Amino acid sequence: MRSMKAVYTSAHLGHDVTHETYLGIPVPACEVTERAENIRAALETDGGFTLVAPTDHGRDPILAVHDPGLVRFVETAWADLTAQEVDRSFLVADTYPVRAMFEGMSDDALGRLREPVAVGGRTGWYGLDSSNPLVEGTWGAARGAVDVALTTVDLVLDGGEQAAYGLCRPPGHHAARAMAGGYCFFNNAAIAAESITRRTGEPVAILDVDVHHGNGTQQIFWRRGDVFYASIHADPAHLYPFFLGYADETGEGPGLGANFNQPLPAGTGDEAYLVAIDRALEAIDRTRGGIIVVSLGFDTYREDPIGTFALTTPAYHEIGRRVAALGRRLVILQEGGYHRPSLGANATAWLRGAEGRPLDPEPAGDSTPAGTRSAS
Ligand SMILES: [Zn+2]
Repeated sequence: MRSMKAVYTSAHLGHDVTHETYLGIPVPACEVTERAENIRAALETDGGFTLVAPTDHGRDPILAVHDPGLVRFVETAWADLTAQEVDRSFLVADTYPVRAMFEGMSDDALGRLREPVAVGGRTGWYGLDSSNPLVEGTWGAARGAVDVALTTVDLVLDGGEQAAYGLCRPPGHHAARAMAGGYCFFNNAAIAAESITRRTGEPVAILDVDVHHGNGTQQIFWRRGDVFYASIHADPAHLYPFFLGYADETGEGPGLGANFNQPLPAGTGDEAYLVAIDRALEAIDRTRGGIIVVSLGFDTYREDPIGTFALTTPAYHEIGRRVAALGRRLVILQEGGYHRPSLGANATAWLRGAEGRPLDPEPAGDSTPAGTRSAS
């Protein structure tokens, strides 16, 4: 039996978040270690996946996409918090440089804005929202997630894999060039896509199927014609990230037409979603390039606590099948998904669909033993 490679690292466990804030009040966190561990366990139980550890790709691929200041912030924020004797179990900002603060000011004046020194100010400077807790191990986990994404790229570019899966945590698609947000610190999918275009010289497509719009990915490639971004997500008028994700955002300059948003209403189910998938795949099929980076979220699931769609597990199998049927190689990277009990089944369903395996587990005795995982 074929065995899709899945890249995993225990480095994500360092990003051990227990609480986030929602409208100013601490609540139990959604983006927790258990998410990735549930998916890892399901991949092992399935028997059809080979878990591999990532290799260290250094900082350069991160700096190819992100502002050096953001990278420095994620690396040093916890130490700053400690040095400034702010007693918190996690760091989020409460003051942000929102656009109305600068209304009427010239580009010249805006160009003189500077990063504050106090860690609270720095967190707002580099942050979109207060539901993005940073803890002591966030830097190591975020670096690990990037290495997972880039190792997944290696498997497809150098390893001859038609498709490979990277179990990235924390997720990435809300992180913009100089901004963290929405449980994301570095944009794993954008870093992967940038790496692919640099290494192959070819255009690349990103298909984002998380329930939230990937505002960070859109921002990073807004003026780029060589990275096509297609996203299917909940209408931003009603769901985070609220301020981007509308259908009339189509890119600018060389990137005009290379940004394709499909906002859908709350309650969207399998049938309507599959129509949108077909539209996105038709658009990708019209672009050049041989690789699709998939930003794979399962917060489209009907029981997801923060999503508003109503997808079922069989739909994920069908989506994976249709995406693979386009014939391009797939770099599949994990984004969101917060209904923990279903994450493993939904991930294996999607990936089995992409591999051309049936949804239901194959009979016992016809699978690779589960002990094929790496040492990590
Ligand atoms: Zn999401």
